[in-house]
Amino acid sequence: MSDVRDVIIIGGGPAGYTAALYTARANLRPLVIEGFNWGGQLMITSDVENYPGYADGVLGPAMMADFRRQAERFGAEFVTDDVTRVDFTEAPFRVFVGEEEHRADAVIVATGATARQLGLPSEQTLQGRGVSYCATCDGAFFRDKVVVVVGGGDSAMEEAGFLSRFARKVVIVHRREEFRASPIMVDRARSNEKIELVLNAVVDEVLGTDEGRVTGVRLRDTVTDETRDLEADGLFVAVGHDPSSALFLDWVDHDEQGYLVTEPGSTRTNIPGVFAAGDVQDHTYRQAVTAAGSGTMAALDAQRYLEERRHQTELAASSA
Ligand code: NDP
Repeated sequence: MSDVRDVIIIGGGPAGYTAALYTARANLRPLVIEGFNWGGQLMITSDVENYPGYADGVLGPAMMADFRRQAERFGAEFVTDDVTRVDFTEAPFRVFVGEEEHRADAVIVATGATARQLGLPSEQTLQGRGVSYCATCDGAFFRDKVVVVVGGGDSAMEEAGFLSRFARKVVIVHRREEFRASPIMVDRARSNEKIELVLNAVVDEVLGTDEGRVTGVRLRDTVTDETRDLEADGLFVAVGHDPSSALFLDWVDHDEQGYLVTEPGSTRTNIPGVFAAGDVQDHTYRQAVTAAGSGTMAALDAQRYLEERRHQTELAASSA
């Protein structure tokens, strides 16, 4: 068993590393349990052009390496492995990596979320080469191109609308006839002349693995089972996100989709001393820069919490 730390940060994405940077600079000696596959969703992105400060753009993995190095420079320590269990019964909180136990007076949960994938091998191969999970991030690369959006929820409608500002044509492919999206969002898509709807269809394969970039998709009609190829330059998968919160659901208040709940305007959870930052508690903005901002908030919230705790302990000792 290790010493009790001031703070443990769980998660190695923009929120976790930014929380690490701030807590390290506040002399809180953070331990970042960053996950075996550290870096988060940016590791499957190519160019990031919307992170302020990188005027010429940056590759997602390179940006995450920069974030990590900056936190390390101020003394953050890292465990490159996955947390397997937590015990938040009382402070110090206990965080386990297999049999190894780490303890801290404050914990920042920044485990992020993952975009749901279609599960196709060709989708994996072409990630960052035309297959994207974020129109806000990658839409501008598809000026005057043809793009396919998969999904029938509000995200798919919103992404299609956003993409229609750049693309020549946007094809929404949805597996059913009815939409999960709200009617107003569907109406907006239907009345956008750049958007075409293909219903009762799924993407069976992303074409272009030989070329190293997306050249189209193979669609399968879910009613007739017939397939046809559609030429396209990009595929946006908008079939939902899953917060990486399973380890915390027994402890931390969460909504029905598993997103951790924080007090409005703060990163405090229902457990004093446990904070949540980034996409694990945000299903609205989901941007690297907002995750980093919320990592900053968590670091400052944790710092204030620890100071107050120390103050109370000193008061108790002096009055004893
Ligand atoms: P949803 O879960 O609402 O929708 C996911 C969509 O993807 C569904 O249409 C689903 O089809 C489809 N889908 C799931 N898996 C597959 C698959 N393997 N292959 C093909 N299609 C698949 O997720 P969203 O991200 O759209 O929305 C999440 C939440 O965020 C919702 O509450 C939504 O209202 C909200 N939101 C609100 C916005 C706004 O108001 N501006 C914008 C964006 C999101 P099926 O319907 O058949 O299950």
